[in-house]
Amino acid sequence: MKPFKFISATNPAQAVAMLTKNADAAFLGGGTNLLDLMKEHVALPNEIIDIGNLSLKDIRATTTGFYLGALAKNTETANHPLIRKNLPMLSKAILAGASAQIRNMATNGGNLLQRTRCSYFYDISMPCNKRVPGSGCAALEGFNRMHAIFGWSEHCVAVYPSDMAVALSALNATVNVQNNKTERAIPFKDFHLLPGNHPEKDNSLTHGELIKGIEIPENNFASHSAYVKVRDRNSYAFALLSVAAGLNLNGNIIKSANIALGGVAHKPWRALQAEEFLKGKAATTANFTKAAETEMAAAKALTYNKFKIEMGKKTLVNALELAFKG
Ligand SMILES: Cc1cc2nc3c(=O)[nH]c(=O)nc-3n(C[C@H](O)[C@H](O)[C@H](O)COP(=O)(O)OP(=O)(O)OC[C@H]3O[C@@H](n4cnc5c(N)ncnc54)[C@H](O)[C@@H]3O)c2cc1C
Ligand code: SF4
Repeated sequence: MKPFKFISATNPAQAVAMLTKNADAAFLGGGTNLLDLMKEHVALPNEIIDIGNLSLKDIRATTTGFYLGALAKNTETANHPLIRKNLPMLSKAILAGASAQIRNMATNGGNLLQRTRCSYFYDISMPCNKRVPGSGCAALEGFNRMHAIFGWSEHCVAVYPSDMAVALSALNATVNVQNNKTERAIPFKDFHLLPGNHPEKDNSLTHGELIKGIEIPENNFASHSAYVKVRDRNSYAFALLSVAAGLNLNGNIIKSANIALGGVAHKPWRALQAEEFLKGKAATTANFTKAAETEMAAAKALTYNKFKIEMGKKTLVNALELAFKG
């Protein structure tokens, strides 16, 4: 590991000032991703700014919904009575991720900023545009079983790995951020980016910005929601594909559906085609199947991940059926 300086911030403004003045510094949340990247020489910060002492750990109801502090741990968030009762989809998504030990360390802010698990990204002997812009993409013609079927570019076919973020996408969350001039709120759909020509950029944060918290509006599908994750193992395994689904129902008629997919794109993939199809339709398996087919029609598979298209249809139908049953 490259030697680095370790400093601690005591308040958000100080943390932002510390990061802003050093282009090679990084915040430390729970460290469960950053330290792995440093050990593999993928991340090479010369200064680590510990933000663990900032008081950004509250989880509470607000007048419009719910607030998650950026430094609240994933375990605490998933098990919080407010979250279990009102946002069960989020609780399930967090608990489907990683392992108990990792969730005990991982923070909500760090979870959103975890980097792709593309194995070529972690292997510094391989070309990777995300790690070294302009070097090429080893996965494009390589072993791309885990990779994207939506929104990829020839510069990067990686998927974004967070389970928690898939639920936050379906829940229309907003990320609250502070920089050295102001605070801003970023709608979840604009927070993570597609790779385009700049796969080195995972999200819309600029250097120096601190995530302070996540706001989630109230919803009317808590009792009809589901998170389904398909993976190679039951623990310590990232999603091959996942679906967060919530149905706002009037009897068995779907007033509206909120659906997001994980493991399919460089960001949580909001299933807008399926959502549009389901509006005003009866909650039947036939309609769920048609919605899934409509969504997956635009998927573009790579050499080794063609199976994800059929898996996507089946997982979508499964999640919608589970959400309907409640
Ligand atoms: C073996 C293993 C299996 C895993 N499986 C899964 C899985 O199945 N599903 C899943 O979703 N995740 C999984 N994870 C990933 C895990 O959820 C993340 O590593 C964790 O959520 C990252 O949170 P952290 O607080 O430890 O982040 P850190 O490692 O501390 O930070 C990550 C990044 O965010 C930055 N950062 C942290 N906090 C802030 C902030 N407040 N503002 C601005 N920048 C910040 C850091 O500088 C760093 O760049 C797995 C991890 C491991 C090691
Ligand atoms: S898919 Fe993206 S992260 Fe993986 S090798 Fe290609 S550029 Fe790198």
